Amino acid sequence: MMKQIIFAAILLLTLIILGYSFYRIYRFFKLTRPAFKIKDHAQRFNELMRVAFGQSKIFRWPFTGLMHALVFWGFLVITIGSVEMVIDGVAGTHRALGVLGAVYNVIIGSGDVFAVIVLLAILIFLGRRLVMNINRFNGIELRKKSKQDAILALTLIFLLMVSLLGMNMAYVALYESKVWFEGVYPVSRWFSDLFLDGIPYDQLLIVHEVNWWTHILLIFIFANVLPYSKHFHVFTSLPNVYLSRLTPVGKMNTMEDVKTEVEMMMNPEAAQEPPAEELASFGVSDAEHITWKNYLDSLSCTQCGRCTSVCPANQTGKKLSPRKIMVDTRARMKERGPQLLDHGKNADDKKMLIEDFITAEELWACTTCNACVIECPININQPELILEMRRYLVLEQAKAPGELSTMLTNIENNGAPWQYSPEDRMKWSEELFMNV
Ligand code: SF4
Ligand code: SF4
Repeated sequence: MMKQIIFAAILLLTLIILGYSFYRIYRFFKLTRPAFKIKDHAQRFNELMRVAFGQSKIFRWPFTGLMHALVFWGFLVITIGSVEMVIDGVAGTHRALGVLGAVYNVIIGSGDVFAVIVLLAILIFLGRRLVMNINRFNGIELRKKSKQDAILALTLIFLLMVSLLGMNMAYVALYESKVWFEGVYPVSRWFSDLFLDGIPYDQLLIVHEVNWWTHILLIFIFANVLPYSKHFHVFTSLPNVYLSRLTPVGKMNTMEDVKTEVEMMMNPEAAQEPPAEELASFGVSDAEHITWKNYLDSLSCTQCGRCTSVCPANQTGKKLSPRKIMVDTRARMKERGPQLLDHGKNADDKKMLIEDFITAEELWACTTCNACVIECPININQPELILEMRRYLVLEQAKAPGELSTMLTNIENNGAPWQYSPEDRMKWSEELFMNV
């Protein structure tokens, strides 16, 4: 009974801290602008199955892709066992989900195998980070904390798998011959014979309890570390894929206010009513101007760097890194959110997302090729934010690169990007032998 009381108290504390962390992020979401209406649920479900559960994009890099996918699938299966531990801890039961019979055997058996696979994958990931100097893990946006986060998360997952296997091994040694033995343990049985054979019952009980508590406490600690680390995507990447933009890649959002203005100019009678509320500004200059989807994208970014590695601007030496756009947006909201919540929209720290975090040079380096969008394993849309920040520069600050200003002036004056009057446009065809 004492074990149940202690467990319930720790669980409650974990949920309170986690609840506070989620509430804090929810309040930041409330500061953002609307994005799109969430509909087409069948299409979204397909996308979730294909991109998230099927890990379709991650397999473009076969070896690391397979390892990541195995870790992801392993986590899904092992999480069911963690839920069972919580039930056992609170209710004082013994392998409570054993009532599922054959299904339970499949879940626990595959979880046991996945524990070893995840363990090996984590060792390889640690080796890649600590020993191999992989380009993708570097970049000005990856600060020291981000690298520490990665090592901490990998270490925690490593310990989680070791304690899971330790618990299963002791469980097999303790109870395999008893009638209440539940599940199958293809790997742990073998390890148990190898390492725990001949150990007295009392000591096996201690091994089991130590690993049980270590495993569940690590889960609680990990869950509370995630909202403050780059690994928050563990919570957000599935919702982020479900809430993907379903419009064709590269389709730009229409600026409704500008569209209404133009319609009123072109045809005042047919024009719709102007919006009731005037927008504070066009485009995005700071964290409070981004949409909830932009913010969800930034929270979900795994900082894997796949987008930056395919970005033609980045690869040709320009300052732009699409990963940095996401990292900076999240960092700015972390800084700006509390100011806005405490002091309202007039809070001013003399900083902005544009220039203080992301420079105009980075923004104008983007070719809008959308390679980053296609590559991103969790369907983040980086160019959308880049375009919105460019819109701010052009519409609010009248700042555009020289070539672009010339082109915009030409469109305004000549109805085309070129410096010819509309009357001269067909001159090129005058010397042709046929009529055009
Ligand atoms: S859309 Fe822009 S940021 Fe994305 S890959 Fe192309 S150039 Fe890079
Ligand atoms: S935006 Fe996507 S591809 Fe780029 S670092 Fe983040 S998760 Fe990886």
